[in-house]
Amino acid sequence: MKIVERISDLSPPGERRRVLVPTMGALHAGHISLVRLARESAGRDGEVVVTIFVNPLQFEPGSDFERYPRPEAADEAACRAEGVDLIFRPQPNELYCSDRSTFVEETSLSKRLCGASRPGHFRGVTTVVTKLFHLLAPDAAVFGEKDFQQLAIVRRMVRDLNFPIEILAGPTVREPDGLALSSRNQYLSAAERRQAPVIRAALLEAARSPEDSAERVLTLVRQKIESAPLARIDYAEIVGADDLQPRLTIAPRTLLAVAIFFGRTRLIDNILLG
Ligand code: AMP
Repeated sequence: MKIVERISDLSPPGERRRVLVPTMGALHAGHISLVRLARESAGRDGEVVVTIFVNPLQFEPGSDFERYPRPEAADEAACRAEGVDLIFRPQPNELYCSDRSTFVEETSLSKRLCGASRPGHFRGVTTVVTKLFHLLAPDAAVFGEKDFQQLAIVRRMVRDLNFPIEILAGPTVREPDGLALSSRNQYLSAAERRQAPVIRAALLEAARSPEDSAERVLTLVRQKIESAPLARIDYAEIVGADDLQPRLTIAPRTLLAVAIFFGRTRLIDNILLG
């Protein structure tokens, strides 16, 4: 396994099928499931590339950029155990010039949900994903459905800007109690961690509900989440899974997406309804 930190040390993909898994590191079983999808797609002779980059551009000022976990040795070991071919792990000043003035921005899907709560976040994501696509020229790239909005925005960007890259999606990997794996779960206090499975419980209750009014389903979801005293709802919305625009009724490909604070830790999750 090669580990590259400098752009000038990257070699072109060559003839082998190259499949990319972009991450911010602190790898957990969710990331590993994407690496396995990448291997399936690349084939035995293909090349699986994991990027590890805590992207300053997608963190709002005052958020957790500095304290975001960076367990380099454990990440390397996890990638080695999965047969990853290349880790690209640049420092921020390797990817960004201090006088940078060009960004990539998706202007519709990015507006709502996490885009409304985290101004500039998705511009940071689309800019860095574009850079990684240019630098690594993969045939395919894998993203997790846990970040459903991010996946939709990347697909839209690839379509709109004609990137010759196939976008593959992996299902959300969860703890046994239903909490979606996230590098941010380690910020939770013991009491917050005990209450965090309420997020998944609320999503499942919504999916089981026979209600077809979005407002009534959202009321159920809010009540369930507010039953956990340490939870604070950032948003709970029902939108179309493809356009991410609000829906009044539940129909096929309707998405329920939530962002919930436990203390300063913001967790997201989603489920398809209908
Ligand atoms: P991150 O390191 O948080 O930027 O995530 C890197 C990739 O892993 C993204 O495509 C995420 O959607 C995906 N991911 C994060 N958590 C999970 C999870 N629990 N299950 C599946 N994929 C995930």
